[in-house]
Amino acid sequence: MTHLVAPLHMVTRFAPSPTGLLHVGHGWSALMGHAMARAAGGAFRLRIEDIDGTRSRHEHVAGILADLRWLGVDWDGEAMFQSRRLDQYDAALARLRAEGLLYPCFCTRADIQASLTAPHGPEGPVYPGTCRGLSTAERTRRIAAGEAHAWRIDIGRAVARVGGLEWRALPFPPGGEADRRVTAAPLIHGDVVLARKDAPASYHLSCTLDDAAMGVTHVLRGDDLFTATHVHRLIQALLDLPSPAYVHHPLLLGADGRRLAKRDGAIALAELRRDGMDPAVLAADLRAGRFPIGITLASA
Ligand code: GLU
Repeated sequence: MTHLVAPLHMVTRFAPSPTGLLHVGHGWSALMGHAMARAAGGAFRLRIEDIDGTRSRHEHVAGILADLRWLGVDWDGEAMFQSRRLDQYDAALARLRAEGLLYPCFCTRADIQASLTAPHGPEGPVYPGTCRGLSTAERTRRIAAGEAHAWRIDIGRAVARVGGLEWRALPFPPGGEADRRVTAAPLIHGDVVLARKDAPASYHLSCTLDDAAMGVTHVLRGDDLFTATHVHRLIQALLDLPSPAYVHHPLLLGADGRRLAKRDGAIALAELRRDGMDPAVLAADLRAGRFPIGITLASA
């Protein structure tokens, strides 16, 4: 008797934030995710992470779509917009709140900076837990008084709830090499924010929920988000979501040795397009790891 194993239908995605123009590094990352899906006969999806009210700009969305099309990156189905999924984020927050895993945090950035005891985690100072100890009455009173607040996860309690976790990491470039299991270490982040004062959901929450909703099986993204994966794995476990495999690629560096960033005017795809560059040549170069002059790949 033969046992037929259904082939895994790979789904990858590219998830830009419309906070500026896409640069060569974004184009390269999108091409990698696209090639990975296409090589496996899978799907490549696009998600616009547009709920950061302070930095997202609607006008950048059209530019992102045009740049990707120009580069030959086609995506399957409609692009997902985070701004249309706020009810999903609310529902997840309500569930975690009901399970006693979230608490409102009224601290300002200055309050946190002023806390001399705060050690540093991968994303800056670790929240010292000031608001974790507030009484229910105090929380209710301050919320009723309209005091601005974020919602933080009680990470110690959450980890105690789900126990030890691992996530699956694939090497970059994606290929034959075996995957490895990474022990999730969400505690290094402290009590991260899941709903911001100025945004309905934090990156950690929206990204994790959306990857699951899109059926993403393989997340390919920059090394700068490697440690974020610890938190994403925890959220998956708390919300009974599947855990995709992760490929974190090295970042591209500019001539100054610093990572390419939109704010520093890193070579924008729109600029190359305006200059008449042949996108097929650019895409072939990027796929082959040949970058424009001055741009290098950070060593892992
Ligand atoms: N929106 C994030 C960014 O532009 C990427 C998120 C991800 O790939 O998980 O940096």
